[in-house]
Amino acid sequence: MHLVTGNIHIHSSYSDGAATIPDIAAAAAKVGLDYIIVTDHQTLAGLPEEGYHHGVLVLVGTEINRTKHHYLALGISREIADNDQKPQTIIDAVNQQGGLGFIAHPFEKGSPFVLDGITYPWHDWNAQGFAGIEVWNWCSQWRDGIQKMLKGLFYAYFKPEGPISGPCPQALERFDQITQKQKITAIAGSDAHNWRFRYGPFQRCIFPYEYLFRTANNSLLLEEPLSQDAQAAKKQILTALRTGRAYIINHLVGKGESFSFFIANESGVFNLGDTATLTANTTLSVRCPFASPRHLSITILRNGTLWRQEQSNRCAYQIKEKGTYRVEIRQKKKPWIFTNPIYVV
Ligand SMILES: [Zn+2]
Ligand SMILES: [Zn+2]
Repeated sequence: MHLVTGNIHIHSSYSDGAATIPDIAAAAAKVGLDYIIVTDHQTLAGLPEEGYHHGVLVLVGTEINRTKHHYLALGISREIADNDQKPQTIIDAVNQQGGLGFIAHPFEKGSPFVLDGITYPWHDWNAQGFAGIEVWNWCSQWRDGIQKMLKGLFYAYFKPEGPISGPCPQALERFDQITQKQKITAIAGSDAHNWRFRYGPFQRCIFPYEYLFRTANNSLLLEEPLSQDAQAAKKQILTALRTGRAYIINHLVGKGESFSFFIANESGVFNLGDTATLTANTTLSVRCPFASPRHLSITILRNGTLWRQEQSNRCAYQIKEKGTYRVEIRQKKKPWIFTNPIYVV
């Protein structure tokens, strides 16, 4: 398996972001990312710039819809008209182009001090055919955390990660409900805009692109090393996202290169997104050998509820029940690693 790590859900100057695609890619190269996915609002204008920039693979999708039901559409080549009221039509349109899409920031609370409290939630949970859910949107969570102005200014100037607590619990709950019936993929999005926090005379760019590229990223497991041919590499990235061979990693807490989570039995080793058949010798292993066990908390969830919890940097258990298993790791209580499930049937 080959690991690549990148950032998803980025706005460039083709919509309301503050930098060009090559400049954004340069910021990603500076922090060592392998890929980034730009998703400007209502446009694929950046598509001709797709490819390698500064050694970083840049993929271009789009964020569809305006007032609600924001949807990140990847792997499409023609723009798709908004349909805020009927998101199923845009999900279908993305799938018809052979693309895949993610429900973005579904449970925003909003802040009275940012964007006048406006939110862009997802309501239509009867929708079908989406590839996954953005369970953690960094900027959205930051905004939700600003309920008092003084606190907001303190965070803006001194502690930008203050309101950050990990994936949105409601989004994870929804994700866990769905993955008990069908496979979908959880991702983190930065929603990077180089956005400025304004209050009276105070204004500050809290989250430059480079800062956000050091926060919640998505690590993908590839069968082969990432191709130097951009079209082939695009296929590798989108396949990993489609099949759930992905985990979220918050780089503010650590790089976590040594992390692994797998299930094994007589038939072989099963990785993220895989389906294993339950046998008498099915074991689940989590390893994080380079992290100090003292401050590490490994939580394993089965069908969305707590199954095992351990303060350690590695653990292994026998599995006796079918179900959907995923892992969450916190270091010094800070949100670090959140995997997609391995399915045991
Ligand atoms: Zn959005
Ligand atoms: Zn966005």
